[in-house]
Amino acid sequence: MYTQETNNLLNEFHQALERVASVEELRGLRELYLGRKNGLIGVRLKSLGTLSPADRRTVGAELNDLKGFVETGLANKEAALLDSLSVLTRPIDVSLPGIAPLDGGLHPTIQMMYDLNDAFAALNFEIFEGPEVTSELYEFDHMNFPPDHPARESMDTYWLEGSGISADARGADRLAIRPHLTGGSVRYMQRHTPPFRFVYPGRVYRNETTDARHERAFFQYEALIVEKHLPFSAGQLLIKTVLSTVFGRPVTTRMRAGFFPFVEPGFEIDMQCLICDGAGCKVCKQVGWIEVMPGGMPHPNVFKAGGLDHNEWMGFYVNVGLDRLVMMRYGIDDVRLFHSADLRFLSQFR
Ligand SMILES: [Zn+2]
Repeated sequence: MYTQETNNLLNEFHQALERVASVEELRGLRELYLGRKNGLIGVRLKSLGTLSPADRRTVGAELNDLKGFVETGLANKEAALLDSLSVLTRPIDVSLPGIAPLDGGLHPTIQMMYDLNDAFAALNFEIFEGPEVTSELYEFDHMNFPPDHPARESMDTYWLEGSGISADARGADRLAIRPHLTGGSVRYMQRHTPPFRFVYPGRVYRNETTDARHERAFFQYEALIVEKHLPFSAGQLLIKTVLSTVFGRPVTTRMRAGFFPFVEPGFEIDMQCLICDGAGCKVCKQVGWIEVMPGGMPHPNVFKAGGLDHNEWMGFYVNVGLDRLVMMRYGIDDVRLFHSADLRFLSQFR
């Protein structure tokens, strides 16, 4: 049990605290009770000397308790008042550590795409975008896939169904979201008069079971040049130039034979591993070379679909492996990391 006087002081304090509506009023209340010179508690503590030793001990302990209650009450009220203020009017404590702003960055694959755009644009390539919704006509018929070619099914195309689309539709009436970019080249050829050179980056879609190495949507990057006279060596030199620009150092390439329905002849371009300079390492699987792009000369039937005569025009087409180039750039041997959406991994490339 506290003395009547102490109880009164405590009750009055709590009532006054209830009425406080601003930080200024709170400051006043603090001064009233805890003020150095004339604070209610301090004045009483000073007068302890006039009491008998027994009372001095009792009252002294009570006043210390009271001081504790007042300090706690004031601190809680101050916190509540500050919380109720808007960020703009809240007093600023400049001694507190700042909050680092969240920032973003380009995904390494997108950065590579932009770097390729820059490198090709410097060589007068136009950047072309085709539609994502397309048809069997453009993606397979124009691309010289025979009607029964297994690739039509193995590409796991997302065919579109719904109102106005017949289940047995074929060709231009059979709609799909693009399984590869290559069909876009015929759209470009149909609308432009050669000679021309263009790149067409974009997302493609495959109805595949997703696992560590297969995604349902991923980026491709293709380039096509059509000119009257275009030796393969010129195309290879161009690719070497682009790769050297992107990597900022000389890049060694080699060409091997390859086969795809839409090219004749077809090839694969490998680049020498930049991590080990061809000696063999984990990234290049000890081979010293990395396959970076298949390509070839557009097949006569592809030229024909684009309205061009293959006897008159020559072409050089490549499909740049963005993932492979990103692996080369950072020396990372597991491409899955780039598609993991793990910000702890991705944020180091900002
Ligand atoms: Zn290597």
